Amino acid sequence: MHDNSDQDDYQWPMCVTPRCNRQLWVAEAGRYACRPCEDRAAKHLTELGPLFRRLTETGTLMRGARRPGGATSGSRTPPIPPRLEVLALTANGGVATRLRDIEDSWRKALGWTVAPWRGSSTQAVPEHLRFLANNLPWAVSSYESIGQDIDELRKLHAECTAVAANERRPGRVSIGRCPARYDDGTHCRADLTATASSHRVRCGQCGARWETLGEWRELRAAQEAVTAEQAQETGVAA
Ligand SMILES: [Zn+2]
Ligand SMILES: [Zn+2]
Repeated sequence: MHDNSDQDDYQWPMCVTPRCNRQLWVAEAGRYACRPCEDRAAKHLTELGPLFRRLTETGTLMRGARRPGGATSGSRTPPIPPRLEVLALTANGGVATRLRDIEDSWRKALGWTVAPWRGSSTQAVPEHLRFLANNLPWAVSSYESIGQDIDELRKLHAECTAVAANERRPGRVSIGRCPARYDDGTHCRADLTATASSHRVRCGQCGARWETLGEWRELRAAQEAVTAEQAQETGVAA
């Protein structure tokens, strides 16, 4: 097991980031994490801001559009884009909480008070990112547990990137039939689709559009009205 037991009395310092294990250069003496790891973490911190903003805009619309009592309970109308992974990142316990946990552990190591309350995650995330970016140089050289935090930032960045990248997937989310009514009273009934990145739903057949949160709710209500109407007609016919 211990092939190198005769060399154990001196080990050249290694970067503490999981899976990096780069030997530190002489110029990096006294650091816990290597420079490439610091640079990557700094880049992740910079990019997480815009990524999170984008996910939040999508998440807010979907949260508002979800019915109380759960998204998947036996509704006849398909749900507004069921992008639960977006919610997992933007809601409590998501990006804001995970960044705050890192900030708190750094503050503890620095002997500072815990991170102040900064309001909603939309308000808090940029503040956490700023704190972490400002203190990253300290952390890579003086914070023993920096490796796990660099790894957590990498994971967060990867998760946000993956979710945000869904917009580039050709597949769109089916959100039910178009409830618009033509002048003769018939319903359009074309299949509507949505992507996670866009607030806009546009019917390819009749051109009806829904964009704002209020309009998403109206779309859902109109779809339910059509479903109810049809159920009634079926009931009468039977
Ligand atoms: Zn490294
Ligand atoms: Zn239509």
